[in-house]
Amino acid sequence: MNIKKIQELQQWMKANQIDLSYVSHPSSIAYLSGFESDPHERVLALFIPSDKEPFLFTPAMEVESAKAAGFTFDVIGYQDTQDPWQIIVQEITSRYSVPQRLALEKNALVVDRFERLIQAFPGTDFSADITNVLQKMQLIKTKEELNTLLEAGNWADVAFEIGFKALKENVSEQEIVAEIEYQLKRRGVAKMSFDTLVLFGANAANPHGTPGALQLQNNQLALFDLGVIWKGYCSDATRTVSFKEPTKQQITVYETVLQAQKAAQAAVKPGISAQELDKIARDIITDAGFEQYFTHRLGHGIGTTVHEYPSIVAGNDLIIEEGMCFSIEPGIYIPNEVGVRIEDCVYVTNDGCIPLTQTPKELNVID
Ligand code: MN
Ligand code: MN
Repeated sequence: MNIKKIQELQQWMKANQIDLSYVSHPSSIAYLSGFESDPHERVLALFIPSDKEPFLFTPAMEVESAKAAGFTFDVIGYQDTQDPWQIIVQEITSRYSVPQRLALEKNALVVDRFERLIQAFPGTDFSADITNVLQKMQLIKTKEELNTLLEAGNWADVAFEIGFKALKENVSEQEIVAEIEYQLKRRGVAKMSFDTLVLFGANAANPHGTPGALQLQNNQLALFDLGVIWKGYCSDATRTVSFKEPTKQQITVYETVLQAQKAAQAAVKPGISAQELDKIARDIITDAGFEQYFTHRLGHGIGTTVHEYPSIVAGNDLIIEEGMCFSIEPGIYIPNEVGVRIEDCVYVTNDGCIPLTQTPKELNVID
C-alpha cells in the first residue's frame, strides 16, 4: 500500500472540496493499494474519503489476497449472488455519509456503474475527475520503482536473446512469439505487458501488425516489440534485426531510425520539453526523406501500465523532470516494403537518462 500517495490524493481532494473519490482502474488501484488484480466483469473499487480511512471493495474470493498484498484498511468482499452496488452504497453511507462531491476516474468507468451511483446518490455532484491527478502522481518514479522497472527491462533483454536465437529460415512469426513466451514463463515471468510482436519483412511496415503464419526468408528484417509485467511494473522495448545480409534500402532505413533514436535519447535531461524530444528524432527522419513514414509519436510514459503519461509528442510542452519514465521509439514504415522501429524506455536522471533495456542497438545481422 502506498499511504503517501493516498494522502497526496486526500490533500488534493480537500483543496478541491471533494469528499469522496472512486478509484476504478485496476492499475490505479494497484498503485495506491498494492493489490494487483484483473477483476474481469466483477467490481473492483477503491473508495477514498478526504478525511477518513479508505476501503477496498473486491469480489469475496479476492479479499484475502488483497490483505496479503499489504492493504491494511478494510477490505469488503461481495459474493457473486449479491448485488455489489447495494453493498457499496451501504458501506459509503454508513462509513462516511452521503457524498456532496464524489470524484470519478473518468477514463476508467463504464456507464452502467456510473448510473448506479447516480441512482444511489441523486443529489451528488459527480463532475470532478481524478484521472489527471492519478496520472501526474505516477509521473515521477522513485528509486525503488526504478529498480523494478530495470528488472522488468532486463526480462525484455532476455526475451530478445531468446527470440534472436530462434530465428531460422521458414520459421513463422507465431513460432517465435510462442518460443519467447514459453521460455519466459518457464523462468518465472507470469505475464507479458502486451501481446508480443514479431513481424517479418513487409509485415513490419504495419506498426501494430499481427504476428501470423508468415515465414522468415533470407535478407528480411525481423521486428520484435515486447515487454513483461514484473512486480506490477511494465517493460516495453523494440529491436529490429536482419536475418542474413541486409539490402541497401534496409540499411539506409535502419541507420536513419537508429540515428533518430540515439539523438533523442541523448537529448533527454531535465528541462527539455516532450515536444522538443519528438522534434529531434523527427527532424533526422525528415532530413533523410522518410518523414511521411514515421506515423506515430516518439514515445509514451511507462510504469504500472505500458502506456501512461507523459506523451512524447508534438504539441506537448511538458517539461521533462528527473524521475520520469518514457519510451523513445522512432520508426520508419514503408508500406509493402520494410518496417524498422527501435525502442528503449528511459528513466530521467538529474543530467541525462538511464535506459531500462540494454540490448545493443547497432544493426544485428543474424546468420
Ligand atoms: Mn512503446
Ligand atoms: Mn513497444
